[in-house]
Amino acid sequence: MSAYDYDLFVIGAGSGGVRTARMAAAKGVKVAITEDRYLGGTCVNVGCVPKKLFVYASKYAEDFHDAAGYGWSVGTPNFDWATLRDRKNSEIERLNGIYRNMLVNSGCDLIDGRGRLVDEHTVEVGGKQYTAERILLATGGWPFIPEFPGKEHVISSNEVFYLETFPKRAVVVGGGYIAVEFAGIFQGLGASTTVVNRGDMILRGFDDDIRRFAAEEMAKKGIEFRYGITVKEITKLDSGELKLNYSDGSEQVADCVLYATGRVPHVVDLGLENVEVKQQNNGAIIVNDSFQTSVPSIYALGDVTDKVQLTPVALAEGMALVRHLYEAGNPAVDYDLIPTAVFCQPNIGTVGITEEQARERGFDVDIYRSDFRAMKNTLADNPERTLMKMIVDKKTDKVLGIHMAGADAGEIIQGMAVALKAGATKAVFDSTIGIHPTSAEEFVTMR
Ligand code: NDP
Repeated sequence: MSAYDYDLFVIGAGSGGVRTARMAAAKGVKVAITEDRYLGGTCVNVGCVPKKLFVYASKYAEDFHDAAGYGWSVGTPNFDWATLRDRKNSEIERLNGIYRNMLVNSGCDLIDGRGRLVDEHTVEVGGKQYTAERILLATGGWPFIPEFPGKEHVISSNEVFYLETFPKRAVVVGGGYIAVEFAGIFQGLGASTTVVNRGDMILRGFDDDIRRFAAEEMAKKGIEFRYGITVKEITKLDSGELKLNYSDGSEQVADCVLYATGRVPHVVDLGLENVEVKQQNNGAIIVNDSFQTSVPSIYALGDVTDKVQLTPVALAEGMALVRHLYEAGNPAVDYDLIPTAVFCQPNIGTVGITEEQARERGFDVDIYRSDFRAMKNTLADNPERTLMKMIVDKKTDKVLGIHMAGADAGEIIQGMAVALKAGATKAVFDSTIGIHPTSAEEFVTMR
């Protein structure tokens, strides 16, 4: 008979927390999980899932145009934001219900409310205390917005999914994943869209050719990119419009300003002051290779540890932790060659290192590029182009990185990631027969 109420108490029912709780419960572990906001966390509610639905929605404008080239005549298309938003909300509520059922059916106790640490074995939720042999912090991340006058007038990715009215003019501040994805969504759904970037190019960290190419393609679709400036102040005019003053002295009026300037670990009001859990300067919980914090009974994984802010990584970490704690297995997660996609338009998909990283690391590389207009865009009279790039180590012939900006890049790169994990050389790609006619076949015909 355990001295504790639970074997494992999970705080936060997002991607990492839910996966860990369910997998542990399936092993017969006595698990509780607490959540004060929404089941499924950022990914299901204000991240990956609703974002992808909005990306699908935004693509229709182009599809209606393209259809004409194939002989279709469609009436004047009309977009209704409220329909999209509300149908998306219903879908997310459906998923929330599925998450609730999954947790309950797996045998976890689901406790609604904010979990706060009382000590290294105790969590308080809604005035009630629960003890546990182990506690897992899986509270995720939260949008970061820098301080400036008028900050109260902007929204983050937490609010953008629920806008009352759709803006005619949108400004997106930032140049990362969320900024470029939402720039594509705003523009596709009919807003005149500006991206404001403090650097000289979007998507720092991605391959330079891909960054430039994607920015050019997005600009062709009408998105305005402004580089090397920051927002100094935002004021709300009597009309309700927002006036932005930029660091270069220029001004702009918009209906909506979305800040997508990164995410920070969500550790507010978690009771960390009651335990000796060590954190980084940005609040991230520090863990060892087994996801254990500086307090042996407390573990953490996912975005709150600020390693790789991606849902599939949090899932992998959750499964590794369960393997480690309840199957005496290896807790190691392989963080090498994590593929990722940015759902801007065109999509970006990438796995492995960039050309710049390869050169910095001293590799002597061969670079293969293919820049073309996808077949579908010919009759469609759509000028969108595709760029594919492969980085190969001359010495070993090993493929070090694969990058793509083009339709379905996320779908295509997933398979490429398997090849790279298996250590594929360029010769292996060359000996693979293509699937014709596809864009993906370019990766096996690059010479
Ligand atoms: P990112 O870290 O990707 O990008 C942040 C952007 O904001 C950068 O362009 C950065 O500029 C800029 N920035 C940061 N601080 C300031 C500031 N004070 N003033 C002006 N600009 C600033 O963050 P996101 O918010 O886009 O996304 C967070 C994370 O969520 C991503 O890193 C990703 O891991 C995950 N995500 C994944 C998605 C996917 O898999 N498709 C989709 C969405 C999010 P600089 O480059 O100069 O630092």
